[in-house]
Amino acid sequence: MKISGIIEESIVDGPGIRFVIFFQGCTHNCYKCHNPETHDINKGKEMSVDEIINKIKNVPLTDGVTLSGGDPLMQIDDCLELCKKIKKELNLNIIVYTGYTYEQIIKMTKPQYKELFNYIDYLIDGPFIYDLLDLSLKYKGSSNQRIIDIKQTLQEGKIITSDL
Ligand code: SF4
Repeated sequence: MKISGIIEESIVDGPGIRFVIFFQGCTHNCYKCHNPETHDINKGKEMSVDEIINKIKNVPLTDGVTLSGGDPLMQIDDCLELCKKIKKELNLNIIVYTGYTYEQIIKMTKPQYKELFNYIDYLIDGPFIYDLLDLSLKYKGSSNQRIIDIKQTLQEGKIITSDL
């Protein structure tokens, strides 16, 4: 998969000490995006799922993994495989950022999008909307974005948000 960068120990991308993977590639084109260098899918570094898993294993204090970008869902097959392995081999909690909304994702025809929800804990969804910028928000850039508790959402059949 194409990766823009990795931060091995972050305290700003979710609770605890998190291993953060920035995926390369995004077509949402949000006005005043913070990471424009991640947009071009032809840039970035090619890495395998196992390479990333091994890197996570080398950071023993990791509380969880955050997939950011770019948009991880634009490389859904690799994103899914990576999340499956993180759960199976490391049993860490997973947060995924995406510029798509939850409602858009569940309508996507490729089954891998919905399958991803079986392996992640939280989805932070929606594009960054500059007019709704709110610097006081934890883990979010604009107030339209939601932290969705995926396990609760699947159990209850309706969107359940979380403050983490
Ligand atoms: S989804 Fe994220 S990376 Fe993509 S354009 Fe919007 S803010 Fe930038």
